[in-house]
Amino acid sequence: MRGVASPSPSPEPSLEGIDDVEDFPWANEGEQSISWDRFRLLYDLMRMGKSAFQENRLDEAVNCYSKANNIKPNDFIILSNRCASYLRFCQFLKNRSSSDSEHSPLRGLDPTTYSALALKDSEKVMSLRNDSLKSYILKANALILLEKYDLAQDVIYSGLHINPSSKPLQELERSVNLIIGRRRHERPQRSDDFDCTLCLKLLYEPVTTPCGHSFCRSCLFQSMDRCNRCPLCRTVLFISPRTCSISVTLNNIIQKNFPEEYTERKAENDSLINPGVDLLPLFVMDVVLPCQKFHLNIFEPRYRLMVRRIMEGNRRMGMVIIDSATGSIAEYGCEVEITDCEPLPDGRFFLEIESRRRCRFVRNWDQDGYRVAEVEWVHDNCPAEGTIERHELQELINRSAAYAQEWLKSAKEAAEGDRARLAELYKAEGMMPSTRDPERFSFWLATVANQRPAERLELLRIRDTKERISRALIFMRVEAQGC
Ligand SMILES: [Zn+2]
Ligand SMILES: [Zn+2]
Repeated sequence: MRGVASPSPSPEPSLEGIDDVEDFPWANEGEQSISWDRFRLLYDLMRMGKSAFQENRLDEAVNCYSKANNIKPNDFIILSNRCASYLRFCQFLKNRSSSDSEHSPLRGLDPTTYSALALKDSEKVMSLRNDSLKSYILKANALILLEKYDLAQDVIYSGLHINPSSKPLQELERSVNLIIGRRRHERPQRSDDFDCTLCLKLLYEPVTTPCGHSFCRSCLFQSMDRCNRCPLCRTVLFISPRTCSISVTLNNIIQKNFPEEYTERKAENDSLINPGVDLLPLFVMDVVLPCQKFHLNIFEPRYRLMVRRIMEGNRRMGMVIIDSATGSIAEYGCEVEITDCEPLPDGRFFLEIESRRRCRFVRNWDQDGYRVAEVEWVHDNCPAEGTIERHELQELINRSAAYAQEWLKSAKEAAEGDRARLAELYKAEGMMPSTRDPERFSFWLATVANQRPAERLELLRIRDTKERISRALIFMRVEAQGC
């Protein structure tokens, strides 16, 4: 992984108050006077320095001022002019495009060295005259070129004490404040360093493999459903969702630096785990009626992914069959709950399932290889409590319950020695709901005797409880006669 990306390049602050250099006065008297010959030479150097500066021959300007400085050290004007030349030269080098540098490489010093030399001169200038704005302007510019913005800010404030309306200092203050403010608020730029190479999104619950690669936890195991190798370097991995933990540090870095995107990823992930009450991931296999209990073996990669997500959420999914007439999923199915999930070492799941309630599929779509459907919960048209119809229905249920118990009893006797059949019958008996819930009871009754998928599908479709009970009883009688 590459590191945190550097902040976006901010525009270079420009030099302020360095438009020109000072004239050297024709005055050679007093304490610091030198011989007139030397003064004449010095004066000429200063004039040549100035015109070089004005014509942007900055290395020549620096040369002239350095020679002048040798003749008369510690002179405010000489040093501040040389300082200005260093600053301008440094800026020129910094602004030079890379193609310019390739075409005519400059021999000599790099920009940082020039700005360091400028800072040295500005400090001398400051020690000579700390009451001159010039000293502050030079030093602040040098510090800014060296990217020492906090120090530059102090120098600017001191200068503004001398003259609060100094234009160059005000300009410098503005650009330094901008840079400092931006740095404080700047987070590492979002780069693809924190993206999962599988989903190409910000890593969510990152897992780092023994080979050092990081992926979203769910993405890695989704890939491992197909092949137990690192998706990036193909190293064979001996890890499983149960033994593999999330890289806490990496997760914290991501969460801190990209809070909005992280929240989005979390919401996205949560919606896969808890799709909402009216959305069900679908296991397309068979018609299941409410009130059944059975086992499922999950080995297909797409369903492994689905089961992992379901198990992190409400443990519910829809079960449905492909309608042979239309070739797409049947209109009706059943919501089931995974009551026990045993992950096997080879990545399969062994599930214990109980079917709960009937639903109608409004629409469905593909989600990472499996189907998700929007469902509508369907109920029988049950006669109201207290009506004659309801009373008759209850009578029918009571008679059917008694018949079912008789039926189960004789079926168990007939199944003597057939352990599988006996287990089935006991299971059916154990699932019998209260007779006070007509719809549920009718579905249970329908599960007792074997029926073909098309017949079970029809039982899901009808909304008349009495009709369902009657059909169930017919099948039970047929099966009892067959025994
Ligand atoms: Zn991912
Ligand atoms: Zn790897």
